[in-house]
Amino acid sequence: MASGSGAAGEAVSGARLIAESLKAQNIEYMFGIVGIPVTEIAIAAQAVGIKYVGMRNEQAACYAASAVGYLTGRPGVCLVVSGPGFLHALGGMANATMNCWPLIVIGGSSDRNQETMGAFQEFPQVEAGRLYNKLSVRPSSLEVIPAIIEKAVRTSIYGRPGSCYIDIPGDFVNLQVNERSVKYMECCLPPPISTAEHSAVSKAASIIAHSKQPLLIIGKGAAYSHAENNIRKLVDLCGLPFLPTPMAKGVVPDNHPNCVAAARSTALQHADVIVLLGARLNWILHFGLPPRFRHDVKVIQIDICAEELGNNVRPAAILLGDISAVTKQGLALQKSLPMNYYTVFHHIRELIPKDCILVSEGANTMDIGRTMVPNYYPRQRLDAGTFGTMGVGLGFAIAAAMVAKDRTPEKRVICIEGDSAFGFSGMEVETICRYNLPILIIVVNNNGIYTGLDADSWKEMLKFGDPATCVPPVSLLPNSHYEKIMSAFGGKGYFVKTPEELQNALKASVADKQTPSLINVMIDPQSERKKQEFPWLTRSNL
Ligand code: ADP
Ligand code: MG
Repeated sequence: MASGSGAAGEAVSGARLIAESLKAQNIEYMFGIVGIPVTEIAIAAQAVGIKYVGMRNEQAACYAASAVGYLTGRPGVCLVVSGPGFLHALGGMANATMNCWPLIVIGGSSDRNQETMGAFQEFPQVEAGRLYNKLSVRPSSLEVIPAIIEKAVRTSIYGRPGSCYIDIPGDFVNLQVNERSVKYMECCLPPPISTAEHSAVSKAASIIAHSKQPLLIIGKGAAYSHAENNIRKLVDLCGLPFLPTPMAKGVVPDNHPNCVAAARSTALQHADVIVLLGARLNWILHFGLPPRFRHDVKVIQIDICAEELGNNVRPAAILLGDISAVTKQGLALQKSLPMNYYTVFHHIRELIPKDCILVSEGANTMDIGRTMVPNYYPRQRLDAGTFGTMGVGLGFAIAAAMVAKDRTPEKRVICIEGDSAFGFSGMEVETICRYNLPILIIVVNNNGIYTGLDADSWKEMLKFGDPATCVPPVSLLPNSHYEKIMSAFGGKGYFVKTPEELQNALKASVADKQTPSLINVMIDPQSERKKQEFPWLTRSNL
């Protein structure tokens, strides 16, 4: 606000009004080249504490101002002179708008009373700016300059960010008005944060849960929205592979194990579900079309711009909203959904020691575990073996623990069992406790062999009569508390249903090197493995 106002009000110049209005909108940086008629605007900007960087070409100045917008979320200002100066900045305005970055360009123009007369550097700047900007305007008087600047800053950051142009007639710069007639504006409110429709979020979650090869594509919209923490949690909790676009590199670090950037083409080609987080299906992503993408790829699109949704590919789900907020919605929902094999093995892989001795058996549990949980040393994996035997796991684990105790006491034995496989020798848990062997048993429990029933379906089914005639042969009792076998003998038992509970139980049992423990991990009874290309041993249609 203008200071030192007496009752009659003080005279303020256009330059000062512009500078004070920018300051009121929390603008920190201005880049530009001065000359007629904008020199006074740069000086006034410095006077109110805006940092001014004089550049050598308006184009570079405009690129600089737009990068400030991306980096800080508050637009930088580019200040240019009329005609050629303005035209040189067009590249920067277009670049900012194409990048969805906020930017304010202030261009001096010729004096109003010389318009159409062939004034110095006269050019239809407002019209020319329209194609490259979300807003291209000239204030009608000095009095409305604060309102126009507030609107331009607000427009540049609300919705899809972009460039806004404000045209300042040369005669406005030194013209004065009484400050009492000026319509001063407070700083615009921060951009509203919108979340997606709940039904759309549930739909997206279900599509991801039923996918075989999901892929997150993280774009610079995600970077701009500061969504890194939520996206990181989503990647970690769901074990989702991700691919950053060039400027989104680092939203989740490139060295994260789920980053598939090194196999970009393959990842794009094979994904059956793609979650687009603030990236457009433009040339950078091959328009989302074959042959770079599957013809039947399901796209889940998350964007702040409704007009973007459905471009080039008809999406399977559309989530309109701020990426950070929408990924948070996804996280909240994820916590209430049953886990699948891939989620479970992702967490196991992340939290068990690299040098542990792995024992594993079960159908899906052993097969999926083998692909998801790596071994780093020889003779540290024991499983169903040549004979495909179920029931070997606990015996093998006891042997491994005895041998490790004598030879490599630092190595833990971790025994990953399907619920059916565990049943074959479950009573050896008593042996484990009797000899106090600190084995960690993880039972991946899907209520059955291959697949099972959830508790509700089980109840429904019992209505049909004698369980012996109607219970599917693959089913086991739903929600069996196998962990209680461990606690019955003095070991630690954990019953877990969510990724968070699984993480906590894994951390606690890995840290406790003295006590035998069993983590009973409930997963979606219908969770399946990815389809095999050859029907080897999967002939049955179960
Ligand atoms: P990239 O070049 O990384 O692929 P694009 O520039 O193509 O990214 O896409 C960025 C997308 O992000 C744009 O469609 C834009 O509307 C969107 N976007 C920008 N900010 C947000 C936000 N806060 N929340 C959601 N989407 C956003
Ligand atoms: Mg099972």
